[in-house]
Amino acid sequence: MNGDIRELYQEMIMDHNKNPRNFRAVKDANRNAEGYNPLCGDHFKVSLLMDGDVIKDIGFEGAGCAISKASASMMTAALKGKTRREAKALFEEVHKMLSRKIGEPCDVSKVGKLATLAGVCEFPARVKCASLAWHTMCEALDPTGKQVTTE
Ligand code: ZN
Repeated sequence: MNGDIRELYQEMIMDHNKNPRNFRAVKDANRNAEGYNPLCGDHFKVSLLMDGDVIKDIGFEGAGCAISKASASMMTAALKGKTRREAKALFEEVHKMLSRKIGEPCDVSKVGKLATLAGVCEFPARVKCASLAWHTMCEALDPTGKQVTTE
């Protein structure tokens, strides 16, 4: 990744951190989950309003580091209006992108703006920060009853 792009990506992450999208509890939410990343102290609640199979609204609350918050913010922006199946498919792609080995090429064509987070795989401790909101969203979609934690 060249320096200009890296800088642009960093700016996008800082922007989402400072002005998180959908940073609120969803009114009339019918799905909720809470997730923790004890390693970093990130803690988010994700709420969803499902209309049949479609994510009509999604929001998040809580606190965390810049990466975790930016990832949660981008996730809510990306998932609003998507179906459950599309949300899961995007989760798979983002998960693949975040957990790939350093130096391994990555097809970011399916993740849209979330490609901003592609560089996070170079910082293994940050991968958990970036994936926390996604795991929390999955628990909200398909509850297992287990506490969502990255440990
Ligand atoms: Zn974090």
